[in-house]
Amino acid sequence: MPTPTPAYDPNNVFAKILRGEIPAERVCDSKHSFAFYDISPLAPIHVLVIPRGAYTDLHDFLSRASDEEILDFWKLVDKISAEQSLIPSGFRLVSNLGPDGGQEVPHFHVHLLGGRPLGPVLP
Ligand code: C5P
Repeated sequence: MPTPTPAYDPNNVFAKILRGEIPAERVCDSKHSFAFYDISPLAPIHVLVIPRGAYTDLHDFLSRASDEEILDFWKLVDKISAEQSLIPSGFRLVSNLGPDGGQEVPHFHVHLLGGRPLGPVLP
């Protein structure tokens, strides 16, 4: 059984980006999800995909989000990989979760990294 997810902090930086309170370089968006370039890219293409809903991490998202939100999120990830020409060269998806996972921003997000060979080890 996973550890309970901490309560969502509505003042986290991604919540502020969603509210338009701080800027982000938009990549694309959908009804339930939003994608923007990471401010400190670790690869030539480094996009963050987030749900518009208030979810702390992957477990929280998959536990509480509707099937429509979940499908919308992963469809947007797939759309970005195509639009950024990451097929067939490939790319990496990463979602950090909690302190041991190195999660800095407590709003669920997936890093989409590509544009160069990333090797077998996570960046
Ligand atoms: O997975 P983790 O929580 O560690 O990643 C947070 C990511 O959010 C970092 O890669 C950081 O560069 C990015 N970030 C951003 N824009 C901000 C604040 C953080 O792209 N304003």
